[in-house]
Amino acid sequence: MSAHADALLTQLRAVVGAGNVLTDPESIEGFLVDWTGRYRGEADAVVRPRTTEEVSRVVGECASIGARICVQGGNTGLVGGSVPPPRNDTGRPVIVLSTARMTDIDEVDAVGRCVGAQAGATVDAIDGKAAEAGLAFPVDLASRESATAGGVVSTNAGGIRMIRRGNTRSQVLGIEAVLADGRVLRRWTSLVKDNVGYDLPALLAGSEGTLAVITRVLFKLVVPPSTATVAVAAVEHVEDAIGLIAAASSRGLTVEAAELMTEAGIELVHEHGHRRPTATPGPFYVLLEVSGVGDIETTMAELLGDTGGLVDAVLEPAPARALWGARESHTETIARSSTTPVVKLDISVPIRALPETFAELAEVGAASDFPCRPILFGHVGDGNIHVNLLDVPEEHAETVTGRVFGVVAANGGSISAEHGIGRAKTAWTHLGRSDVDLDTMRAVKAAFDPQGLLNPGVILGTGARSADPPES
Ligand SMILES: Cc1cc2nc3c(=O)[nH]c(=O)nc-3n(C[C@H](O)[C@H](O)[C@H](O)COP(=O)(O)OP(=O)(O)OC[C@H]3O[C@@H](n4cnc5c(N)ncnc54)[C@H](O)[C@@H]3O)c2cc1C
Repeated sequence: MSAHADALLTQLRAVVGAGNVLTDPESIEGFLVDWTGRYRGEADAVVRPRTTEEVSRVVGECASIGARICVQGGNTGLVGGSVPPPRNDTGRPVIVLSTARMTDIDEVDAVGRCVGAQAGATVDAIDGKAAEAGLAFPVDLASRESATAGGVVSTNAGGIRMIRRGNTRSQVLGIEAVLADGRVLRRWTSLVKDNVGYDLPALLAGSEGTLAVITRVLFKLVVPPSTATVAVAAVEHVEDAIGLIAAASSRGLTVEAAELMTEAGIELVHEHGHRRPTATPGPFYVLLEVSGVGDIETTMAELLGDTGGLVDAVLEPAPARALWGARESHTETIARSSTTPVVKLDISVPIRALPETFAELAEVGAASDFPCRPILFGHVGDGNIHVNLLDVPEEHAETVTGRVFGVVAANGGSISAEHGIGRAKTAWTHLGRSDVDLDTMRAVKAAFDPQGLLNPGVILGTGARSADPPES
């Protein structure tokens, strides 16, 4: 460890306590590798502040000597943004700032339908707090027990309720964040209308830890539906799934969630102990959760009867955990089933292009002269497909990524639907953004973080650093 790092850690111990500055390789190992196992970094220490004030002082100390900070919440991100850079060749200390101890959740404001939470509170804990007041947290995803408030805001997570409630950005009423120089930015109001200048909370949403460290968030809450029904239909074609979703809306049902799976994915989760949703397998499966007034089960049963290409179907009252389980266990099962770290690409295309895109993506595996087993699933109502390529030898990961992004570009889609860019996709941002757009993003980064201290290399790649750190 350099003299710089030594001196910094002494200062940081004074701020957060010696027990919250971890340096021993065994204790910090889990903070240096991401959920996928594909991205691994190096850091001098993991620092675990408890309060906004402590975060402010930690960032201030780092800024004074140009030390780099990688912000980490639940470490469930799938694009390598939550771990530090692979090599520290800058000569400057690098720390992981973990929000693991920042888990406070305020009392729910039942009238204003909102709740404040510290950045490290999990999605599950926030939803549990909301439920005590008869409300629900509109953000939900399979990583709910680990993913944090700071994480879902920083990645602008989508998740399974996005089709009904919108993305995480649209759930944020207020934010508190520590800027790269240690100052605290606070926009904390339950006002629904507040147009005073630039919408900085919206800008921080989706910034993946590159602009500021989010310390607290004021979230909107929603009234959950009183009754809902879950249907899983095995269908012949992607078009049949899309038709069923459209028909449900046309019949006055509210679509709460709409997920698409394939037989390859269902077979895999079944091998790992999950019940098959339908007795007869289909090439595709659509899971639809609907709410509404009246006899929604009968309406849904009628709709299923009219569905083109229907192979088989089941209906259960929500929460229908076993039906959801087959869908939600996909990510973990896929990770356990690949002989190499899974190439995970989270893309979106216009809904009308989904059938063509599914067919072309399935071909990416077949056209490869190395092992490449595709498993596709996703939030079909949002045009979002999670492309998982298993068993791909590391040296071919970039080639298959290029092929997938070629399909996406040809179908007018986006290379990142909801997971962000992280470290995984920095080389591909030009596919979705013009030079002018990328230059403007670099200018925003420079305005927030002129020394390039926060999550260097994430989103904009290594060229993102706009100024040299001060000499210390
Ligand atoms: C099983 C599984 C299912 C998933 N399903 C979905 C899904 O349906 N939809 C979806 O969108 N994602 C999904 N994800 C991805 C992941 O859960 C989300 O990206 C989530 O928002 C990450 O939250 P986190 O707390 O784990 O953040 P981390 O992984 O710790 O960090 C993610 C990014 O946010 C930054 N960050 C974290 N906290 C802060 C903070 N306080 N201030 C500033 N920056 C911060 C990090 O630097 C990093 O760039 C899934 C992941 C898994 C493993």
